[in-house]
Amino acid sequence: MKNEKAEEIFRKFLKEGNNRITPERFEVLEYALEYEGHFGADDLFILMKSSKSRVSRATVYNTLELLVQCELLSKRNFGDNISRYESNFKRQQHDHLICVECGEIVEFTDTRLLNIPESICKDLGFELDSYSFNIFARCKNRKNCKKHSNEKK
Ligand SMILES: [Zn+2]
Ligand SMILES: [Zn+2]
Repeated sequence: MKNEKAEEIFRKFLKEGNNRITPERFEVLEYALEYEGHFGADDLFILMKSSKSRVSRATVYNTLELLVQCELLSKRNFGDNISRYESNFKRQQHDHLICVECGEIVEFTDTRLLNIPESICKDLGFELDSYSFNIFARCKNRKNCKKHSNEKK
């Protein structure tokens, strides 16, 4: 198994929450960690199905939520009301810029942002849990943008 450390974290989390430890859940974990980029629950379900997995859609959905709870995945919303997930495991904290025309998602890390959520919480008397910072923009190169929209539809 490639992601032993992640499995260990997940197993511990399931145990502590009195959740059932099933091979299906670990199968979802493996696929989720291997997925390149951001994915919806249905994207993952379709991928697993096409790889002959027998995991049910409901299991995919509820396992993804468990993986968010134990922080192996992040759940993102890029303004279109579809929850997307991405692996946190062995990845750096980052933020996103989304093209509102073609939906391209660009990841970035900017050190200027790093301490802002924490310091705002502190000022307001809160303890930071998580934050999301999304920039919505338009591709400057219209040609590229159109190309993206054709590819994705
Ligand atoms: Zn991302
Ligand atoms: Zn675009």
